[in-house]
Amino acid sequence: MALSGLEIFKKLPKTNCKKCNFPTCLAFAMQVATGKVEISLCPDVSAEAIAQIAALTAPPIRPITIGTGENGLKIGEETCMFRHDKRFEHQPGIGLLITDDDDEGLESKLKQFNSIRFERVGVMMKPELIAIKSVSSDIEKFKAVVKRVMDETEASLVLMSDSPEMLEAGLSICDERRPLLCGATKDNLDQIAQIAKKNNVPVVAKGGDLDELADMTAKLNLAGIKDILLYPTATSLKSRFEQEVMVRRLPLKKQLRSLGFPTILFPSDFTKDKDEEMLIAATFVAKYAGIIILSNLEPHYLYPLFTERMNIYTDPQRPMTMEEKVYEFSNPDKDSPLLVTGNFALTYFLVSGEVESSKKGVWLAIQNTDGLSVLTAWAAGKFNAESVAKFIKGSKIAENLSHRNIVIPGYVAEISGELEEELGSDWKVIVGPREASSIPSFLKQWTTH
Ligand code: SF4
Repeated sequence: MALSGLEIFKKLPKTNCKKCNFPTCLAFAMQVATGKVEISLCPDVSAEAIAQIAALTAPPIRPITIGTGENGLKIGEETCMFRHDKRFEHQPGIGLLITDDDDEGLESKLKQFNSIRFERVGVMMKPELIAIKSVSSDIEKFKAVVKRVMDETEASLVLMSDSPEMLEAGLSICDERRPLLCGATKDNLDQIAQIAKKNNVPVVAKGGDLDELADMTAKLNLAGIKDILLYPTATSLKSRFEQEVMVRRLPLKKQLRSLGFPTILFPSDFTKDKDEEMLIAATFVAKYAGIIILSNLEPHYLYPLFTERMNIYTDPQRPMTMEEKVYEFSNPDKDSPLLVTGNFALTYFLVSGEVESSKKGVWLAIQNTDGLSVLTAWAAGKFNAESVAKFIKGSKIAENLSHRNIVIPGYVAEISGELEEELGSDWKVIVGPREASSIPSFLKQWTTH
């Protein structure tokens, strides 16, 4: 149950000593209640109160990290049903399923995993996990595949078997990567719990219905396992979808902590058709899988899936932005055109894509507009003659140019006169296209300037 700021305030020392960097205990309590700061920032609050408040203000869906270091994947910690209510916190991990009986296919699958990389709006999109499933029932074979995956990739790992011995053997090869054990069933729960506890690794609870899963997580908690993922094994896609929604809804709306964990999904449980598999994955990116393991990572499927994931998991209250600077395309020289626009990431993505496709050397000046698109930034006074001139002068880009021409977006043609005044009489402001798609034809004509 979430605590209000006043309830938290009652547990604080109320000395207003400011050691937490807040002016008063009440101001600090309000921030703790919204989850923006940790209660432990107050050095004078009792350990008992810290434990009490931390438990009561913990996110309804437990945050879990699979893997370690910079390749570790954090999931969970979600606090809302709908992205526009606040934001979704951690995008679902996307992974590749491999089995220990596919000697011939293993090499190409690992190559596929390592080669799938797409850069979009300055962000590298790639799969994070490999799930290794034991189907051979041969412990040595399983260990050999785990070792190969360890040697040839930096993936976070999921070890899959219903056999505790098999999981323990796999774990002995890759424990340093803190893999996810998949998993505990009602039949092997005690043994899997022991292995997970001894090795401090997260574990999947696998069960047919939500009551069974809630029962299993309670038992795992009692055994000292806190990092749990849920794998509801409904046989129909409709039931699985309903389960997924309930696993988000019940902890958030009914404070049912025993289901407050992220989930893992295998779309290939429901179909063997690749197109359908991707449609299922796309559905559960939006609602509400923590990890999605795919049977293949073909680029034409992955790019739209990654793009969807990025779009849904960006903070709707904070537009994606690019760093303010002058970007270079196709080795621009002193005669190359200088274009300026705002730093909304999508604007940059569209403009840079068209500039790149033109294959012309271009200086692209991206001015900080707090992530607003050109027209919105202009209306908000963040992209005007004064701000553009200040940025262009500060960038010292003129030192690289033989000319003093600057191209502004067609949508802000109004600022051209004032911008010439701000930049100085040697500058000429050229009004460029309104739409990014017209940039290549515009640049073609540049040689005639
Ligand atoms: Fe209050 Fe603790 Fe902050 Fe001091 S450090 S102002 S006692 S909350």
